[in-house]
Amino acid sequence: MIGSNNYILTKTKITHGLKCKKKLWFDINEPITNDSARARLGTRYEQLIKKKFGKALDLSNSSENSISEAIEKTKKAISSKDIKVIFEGHFSNDDTLVRTDILKRNRNGWDLYEIKASGEIKKEYIQDIAIQSFVAKSCGIKLTSINIIYINKEFEYLKDQDYQGLDKTENITDRVVVEEQNINQYIETLKKVAKKKLSPEINMGSHCNNPPCNYSNKCKSLLPKTTWEYCQISVRRKKINLKRKI
Ligand code: SF4
Repeated sequence: MIGSNNYILTKTKITHGLKCKKKLWFDINEPITNDSARARLGTRYEQLIKKKFGKALDLSNSSENSISEAIEKTKKAISSKDIKVIFEGHFSNDDTLVRTDILKRNRNGWDLYEIKASGEIKKEYIQDIAIQSFVAKSCGIKLTSINIIYINKEFEYLKDQDYQGLDKTENITDRVVVEEQNINQYIETLKKVAKKKLSPEINMGSHCNNPPCNYSNKCKSLLPKTTWEYCQISVRRKKINLKRKI
């Protein structure tokens, strides 16, 4: 329920786990955090977009609210008619915690908006947003629409601090609702991985790139040297073959 503070998984951990179960295991048991330039750009974009939604209950500052306080405040804000917009609403259910970028109240419920600092709606965003909406709904909130806000590639910065036209919004409710049907199973499978004493045995491969995995040095160090060299040769060969085909 919304008031629960016991969680193992988050949206990010689930998306990592769907890509590589070993990555999820490291996230939980031996984490390395990554404050990349890309992440900082995403945060700046988010701030610009949020400004357009006006006054809101903002739960994004973790030094102001512990997770359990943010969950409680989200719960209260949803039942209070005075709060119209919530930034970073916290929801926890079935050992999983999610934070929704923007919730906006309407007459019948809430519109969910997720912000992506990208010029296109990538397929993985639908899965990512379905995790948010699945957990939020399971905590009892009525979501009347699910939307994505992303970068308008045609935007031109003409005047100081004028960001009109920087973003595009698309209603993706139907696509997300279809994907939500898989989320319960993902959570159950990944919870078992998270609780394992040892990391799962997964070989390095193309899934370690795009974006590069934080744990690649760790995984390389676990490989016998000859195996790592073999992987390198194999990747180089694949690249050469690809170039020949092109
Ligand atoms: S480096 Fe590759 S195999 Fe290792 S955790 Fe990351 S994605 Fe998984």
